[in-house]
Amino acid sequence: MAEDRLLLTGNVLSFDDDPAANPDAVTWIESGAVLVEDGKIAWVGRRAELPGHLAAGASTHTYGREIILPGFIDAHVHYPQIGVIASYGAQLLEWLEAYTFPEEARFADPDHAASMARLFLDLLLAAGTTTAAVYCTVHPESVTAFFEESEVRGLRMIAGKVLMDRNAPDAVRDSAASGYDDSRALIETWHGRERSLYAVTPRFAPTSTPAQLEACAALLGAFPDVYMQTHLSENLDEIRWVRELFPKARSYLDVYRGFGLLGPRSLFGHAIHMDEDDLGLAASSRSRFVHCPTSNLFMGSGLFDIARTRAAGVPVLLGSDVGGGSSLSPFATMKAAYEIAQLNGRTLAPEEAFWLSTAGAADALSLGDRIGRIAPGFEADMTVLDPESTPIIGQRVERAESLRDLLFAQIVLADDRAIRATYAGGRKVHERR
Ligand SMILES: [Zn+2]
Repeated sequence: MAEDRLLLTGNVLSFDDDPAANPDAVTWIESGAVLVEDGKIAWVGRRAELPGHLAAGASTHTYGREIILPGFIDAHVHYPQIGVIASYGAQLLEWLEAYTFPEEARFADPDHAASMARLFLDLLLAAGTTTAAVYCTVHPESVTAFFEESEVRGLRMIAGKVLMDRNAPDAVRDSAASGYDDSRALIETWHGRERSLYAVTPRFAPTSTPAQLEACAALLGAFPDVYMQTHLSENLDEIRWVRELFPKARSYLDVYRGFGLLGPRSLFGHAIHMDEDDLGLAASSRSRFVHCPTSNLFMGSGLFDIARTRAAGVPVLLGSDVGGGSSLSPFATMKAAYEIAQLNGRTLAPEEAFWLSTAGAADALSLGDRIGRIAPGFEADMTVLDPESTPIIGQRVERAESLRDLLFAQIVLADDRAIRATYAGGRKVHERR
């Protein structure tokens, strides 16, 4: 059970707005305090200014030089692929055949699904991530297992059953009708229950028939506040395949447009190879793109241009895309996003990367009034960052001359060892051993 009243002390970091557009959007409180009541943030400010009557009776968790910040948000990840992370030598389409589909076939077994969901969530919380948009497998059992484990931990999670009715082995295939019925039943059970939210999840256009994509649109019509998540324009062979399968569509994104799948609750993973018309269509439909930088490098997919995409008016979130991605750590994701920006002749400021991983992602998920910030009324999802978690980071941080410098050192050098503790809904759900 959540502790009723909890007081965390330490340095506090939160972002109200995109720091690239608004430098005043950064909240940094040295020697701060966060008071939590009934799972929500009740007060935040300097420790010395906390009224005594508010602190009275609260269970105190003291963090000194450590930084209390909003829990990270991973906007694209496959929990069933945790077992095939770091699999060698393939690009997207071969990778699916060789590693993903055989592994996902195992999730018809509810016990296997439950044990992998437990492992995945423990690893996610150890990485400081408290919310994720998660692909399950084609089996409804995989979704049930995931949400059950997530609910036990009190997490705000988005997840859905993969829909896949062609171009995949029997063991990981549904049909347009069964995919619709199973998704509908899962939405009715899980969407809005406790902190769980549902995403209609066609894997990608090549593995869904037109009938199935129509069924996805019907689900979105029947349940307008569920999410839609899928893959888009990740790999050049994939794009050629989509052109063969949907010869009438102008582009890959246009396939999804034709079935009515664009919109402000639609999350398109990757979206690397996009022309100006695609960006215009994404912006006008208010669709969201999820940049998965470690995956793009690991799978050799290409270099997503975050600056160009955001300049076109398309909101961008960050995702680990494990198992195609190589780490659940938001530091690894932010670091790879920075490196890809460098290869594109751009840059990505560290405070912008942190914003994209917290409040920016919450805003893009239409959850910006509930998670992603350390502010009164927000759900108390927080992670505690040790800024000197290893000797090499410690000596670098000693030289840091600004918050930007300190955050950049974390992006480049930190990993799970920097996550001292993680809280969800005001309850400690991870503590570094
Ligand atoms: Zn993916």
